[in-house]
Amino acid sequence: MSEFSSLREMSADLAKGAYSSVELTQAHLERIQTANAALNCFISINAESALAAATKADQQRAQGDQRATLGLPFAHKDIFCTRDILTTAGSKMLSNFVAPYDATVVSNMAAAGMISVGKTNMDEFAMGSSNENSFFGTVSNPWDHTRVPGGSSGGSAAAVAAGLVAAATGTDTGGSIRQPAALCGITGLKPTYGRVSRYGMIAFASSLDQAGPMTRTAEDAALMLGVMAGFDPKDSTSSERHDDWLDGVVANGIAVLDRPLTIGLPREYFSDNPNFGGIEAAKTELEKMGHTLVDVSLPHTESAVPVYYVLASAEASTNLSRYDGVRFGHRCEDPQSLQDLYERSREEGFGAEVKRRILTGTYTLSVGYFDAYYLKAQKIRRLISEDFQQAFTQVDVLLAPTSPTPAFKKNQLTDDHVAMYQQDLFTVPTSLAGLPAMSLPCGFSNGLPMGMQLIAPAFREDLLLELAAQYQRQTDWHLKRPEAVV
Ligand code: GLN
Repeated sequence: MSEFSSLREMSADLAKGAYSSVELTQAHLERIQTANAALNCFISINAESALAAATKADQQRAQGDQRATLGLPFAHKDIFCTRDILTTAGSKMLSNFVAPYDATVVSNMAAAGMISVGKTNMDEFAMGSSNENSFFGTVSNPWDHTRVPGGSSGGSAAAVAAGLVAAATGTDTGGSIRQPAALCGITGLKPTYGRVSRYGMIAFASSLDQAGPMTRTAEDAALMLGVMAGFDPKDSTSSERHDDWLDGVVANGIAVLDRPLTIGLPREYFSDNPNFGGIEAAKTELEKMGHTLVDVSLPHTESAVPVYYVLASAEASTNLSRYDGVRFGHRCEDPQSLQDLYERSREEGFGAEVKRRILTGTYTLSVGYFDAYYLKAQKIRRLISEDFQQAFTQVDVLLAPTSPTPAFKKNQLTDDHVAMYQQDLFTVPTSLAGLPAMSLPCGFSNGLPMGMQLIAPAFREDLLLELAAQYQRQTDWHLKRPEAVV
C-alpha cells in the first residue's frame, strides 16, 4: 500500500487479501496523526470507531462480502452530524456538540462498509474561501505551507492532496468543494442540487448546499458519489430520480464516453486573466480526444457573486437563528436575563465572518429592503439559470476555470472581504442554477496547482465523470504530488 493509493486500488488490494482493512486503517491513522501537526486538516481523529468499523469490515469480507467499497478508509468534513462523535462545523458555537444521530451521507457511507477515520477542518459554518475562518485554526496547503488550501472544505482538500486519505466528503454552497480541490490539485465534484441528501448536514444556505466527493481521481469520485447519492424522505428537497449508471459506477467504474462531446467555453469566464495556462493546454488536449470546442455566452455571470452573497447570507441568517444558547451549542456563563443569554451566547459563539453574514442577511430580509435586495436577487438567480439552459441547447458540457487564482498566501485576503468573495466568481453561478460541476487538476502556475471546471446539465454527472476519466487517462496532472509532508 502507498499513501497515494486510490480507493479503487485499495479496494483491489483488500479483495486480494494483500492487507486487511484493520491494517489499512491503522496505517492511515498513523500518517494522519503525524501529518496533522503540520497541516491542521483534521478537527478530530476517530481511531477507536474507525478500528471497530474496520474489524467489522474484515469479518464481513471473511464471510464472503465482496462489495467494492467494503473496508475503505476516508474522512468526513466536520459539517456532517455523526452520532456519538463531535461535530463542530468549524465553530466555537458547536465546539462541544455531539449529535444524537447520523447524517444520511454518514449512514450511507457506513452502510457501504466505508470507514471514517476522522472529521476535517473547515471554515466556520462553511462560510469562506480560505479556511481561515475556522475556530480550530487555518489549514496549510500541502503544496506550500505558507498558503491557504481554499475553503470551505479546505481540510478535506488538504488531507486528500497530502495522501492522508484517498477520499473525503465535502460540501459546496458556492464553490466549497471545487475551489479547494483546485487550490490543492485534487478532483472535486459538486452534484446536482437534490442528488445527495442534506439531512444531518449542518445548514448554511439550504437552497444551495450540496454534499459531494473530494478525491484524487475521477474514478474515485464516481465510487463515492454512487455511495453518497440517493433519494431520502428525510430531506424534502432530495430528488426521487435514480439513474442506473450510479449503481454501475460503484460496481464497474466509469463507462467510456460513447461519442465526442461539444464543449462550450463561456466567454465571460475567459476574459483578461493571465493565470489560465493550464486551461489552454486542456483545451488542446480535449480537441485531440475528438471533442469540439465552441464559444458560448452566459451574459448574467457578473451578477452572480452579488446575487449569491445576498441570497446565501439571507438563508444563513435564518438558519443560524437556531443557535440561541438554549437548545444546543455554546452558552454564555451566568446569564442575567433571557436577552442577555441570547446576546452573549451568540456574541461569544460566532466568529467575525459568520456575524457579517448574519447581519447582512438580516438586513436584506428586513421589511424596508426585502424587495430591493432579496427579491431582486431571486429574479436575477432565475436569469442566471436561464443562461445555462440556453447554453445547454448548443453544447453538452461547459469548460471554465475553477478559481481566478491559484492558492494565495495566508492572511493575504483576510482584510479585503470583497476580494475574498471574488474568489467565488466562477463557482457560484452553477450553485445558483443547481447544476453539477467538477474541478480537476489541469496544470501548474509557479509550482501551484490549477483546476479546470466542467459543468453539465442537471443530473448529468455521468457526462462530467466520463469526460474527466477520459482526460485523466490521457494526462497525468492528477498524479502530481506535493513534496513529502510527513
Ligand atoms: N466561499 C463561498 C462562501 O464563503 C462558498 C462557501 C461554500 O460553498 N460553502 O460563501
